[in-house]
Amino acid sequence: MDTIKRALLFDGKAIVDVLDTTEIVQTAINYHNLSDDAAKALGQVLTIGAFISSGFKASDNKLTIIVDGKGNGGKMVVSADAGAAVRGYIQNPSAMGDPASVVGRDGYINVIKDFGLKEPYNGLCELVTGNLSMDFAYYFTKSEQLPSAISLDVDVKNGKCLKSAGIIVQPMPNCTEEVIVILEDIVSQLKNIASIVEEKGTQGVIDYYFGHFPMKQLDDVNPKYICSCSKEKVSQMLMTLGRDELEDIIKENGKIEVGCQFCNKKYQYLKEDIDSIFNK
Ligand SMILES: [Zn+2]
Repeated sequence: MDTIKRALLFDGKAIVDVLDTTEIVQTAINYHNLSDDAAKALGQVLTIGAFISSGFKASDNKLTIIVDGKGNGGKMVVSADAGAAVRGYIQNPSAMGDPASVVGRDGYINVIKDFGLKEPYNGLCELVTGNLSMDFAYYFTKSEQLPSAISLDVDVKNGKCLKSAGIIVQPMPNCTEEVIVILEDIVSQLKNIASIVEEKGTQGVIDYYFGHFPMKQLDDVNPKYICSCSKEKVSQMLMTLGRDELEDIIKENGKIEVGCQFCNKKYQYLKEDIDSIFNK
């Protein structure tokens, strides 16, 4: 089972999260038939999505992350609900190449957090390195004023996710410069966090690297790949196109088929289905 272990450090001055998202990445590989290189890129965005949405308080809070670095993988989109229920896709699931060429280094990261308020929170930041650990650290620092130390790492071979992991350290409001420097120094040594989590486990990483600091362990979260699509949502989306438009498509093709981008589920509509959604 995937896990997020979390602890407050230095009497609440900072917070560390260690994530194991192996099953999430394997599910994404299976749904989208991802190449190993596409899985490495999308897996890191899914890990960040699990991290951000694990902190959401209300069940209807929603997260969308769009990463577009103009790489050969194209755009990546991750969406999540509270409790680290994530899903995602990459435009070109068969992309190949080193991370910087799959992700690209000339685009943006866009994070939208919908807390049910009038306007959703909308954070936008340029993407410049193609190294998602660095680009997301830059995003948090620049857009959310949270200087963060991040290491994301996905180990995948021949369509099998051996380990996907991440470590994220963020300051709390009363944090000091000294604490930030100490923690950044530790995280900078954890570049291959996937193999470190493989060896020590998520809790082991916290104990081994942070156990000698004043620490308060917080509750675990179990992130999951969950798609929230349903026939009802697809029907609502179709209704916005209007009955005439839909009937024209049916006349031409005999049916309407809508595929979910996040889980590849196919929804089919025949003439009588269109009648019934408009007669409800
Ligand atoms: Zn779906």
